Amino acid sequence: MKILSINAGSSSLKFTLYKMPEEEKIVTGQFERIGIKDGSYKIKVNGEKIEKKHDLKDHKVAIDILLKELIDLKIIKDLSEIKAVGHRVVQGGDKYDDSVVITDEVVKDIEIFSSLAPLHNPANLIGYQAVKEKLKDVKHVAIFDTAFHHSIPKVKYTYPLPLEFLDLKVRKYGFHGTSHKYITEYMQKYLNKDKVNLIICHIGNGASITAVKDSKSYDTSMGFTPVSGLMMGTRCGDIDVSIAPYIMDKLNITIDEFMNICNKKSGLLGISEYSSDSRDIEQKVTEQDEKAILATDIYADKVVTYIANYYFALEGKLDAIVFTAGIGENSNTTRKRIIDKLKCIDIDLDEKKNDETRGSFGIITREKSKYKVYVVPTDEEVEIARDTYRLTK
Ligand code: ADP
Repeated sequence: MKILSINAGSSSLKFTLYKMPEEEKIVTGQFERIGIKDGSYKIKVNGEKIEKKHDLKDHKVAIDILLKELIDLKIIKDLSEIKAVGHRVVQGGDKYDDSVVITDEVVKDIEIFSSLAPLHNPANLIGYQAVKEKLKDVKHVAIFDTAFHHSIPKVKYTYPLPLEFLDLKVRKYGFHGTSHKYITEYMQKYLNKDKVNLIICHIGNGASITAVKDSKSYDTSMGFTPVSGLMMGTRCGDIDVSIAPYIMDKLNITIDEFMNICNKKSGLLGISEYSSDSRDIEQKVTEQDEKAILATDIYADKVVTYIANYYFALEGKLDAIVFTAGIGENSNTTRKRIIDKLKCIDIDLDEKKNDETRGSFGIITREKSKYKVYVVPTDEEVEIARDTYRLTK
């Protein structure tokens, strides 16, 4: 059975076509600069990469091209071969604790939850509508980034603000749930245990750390929105809220402008004053650039603080610490900076293994290390396909 997994952003659309339940990736790719000039797309099939420039007026144009390419490239003979479509949706609110087949009610809910995720949910819906228009007769499934975190207890999801704010939906939701769930299932299998306790560091451009207790999310660093928690590529993570009115007054800017700074001009970019990409920053670190060194030091400090927090939350009962996503999978220097600060809980980095592990599975601690640290490549797309298959087969 062929299943299409779709991850639509405001100006991009990533897709993968799977053969399920074999989890065979048939074709994968992405459209970029949708709605902006100089659009383009990439398709990877049979180890071959096709790259084309094409103006992409909107998501509908991108979907038209995608479906036509699937036929032209003889990946499918007919659209009816696609039996179901899974869509990543960032915010499922306090309602959805699992993926769900999309109905009119679900669409309404996603619209309602847009006020909680204005940068993401509307784009996810536009993507869904564009695909739905072409593939009317198949089931579409919403896979929520927030669903995995429904198990977080009230004591951890409630902010110490007036309690009535809970009625206004102000609480920790958590994000990257699809990735944290994938890693949890992977480690359950790898360790051959039904219930695992993990600290998962999903550190990419966006970043979040999750404490997993008995295979369920127990706490996570992102909160009401994805701007909170760790320092990220361009997001600030946790800051004192009083900075907002102070800076708005000093710089004579609006709250929207302040939030734009927190989301797009802070983090690695804000401190390094150079780039949000960890590769660029690492290069600058080798050149002894002071701002880049400060950026990487703050970055590691924030990750260590969360690991320490979750180590205690899990009462030290830890099966593994896992690094994943762009930086976690690839940046041996970032991992070293973090793990070197965990010696006090008897975590002992194996530098050689750490240096050798890039973009692939690996155990990067020594045999004698009390807790093992793993690198596990995440795969949110296959998790989308799995849930879509489970709910539509
Ligand atoms: P997103 O949150 O956009 O999905 P990714 O998980 O793709 O982000 O991570 C992007 C980050 O991963 C960037 O900061 C990038 O520099 C970093 N990264 C990707 N590949 C490497 C690499 N080979 N070495 C170091 N960092 C890398």
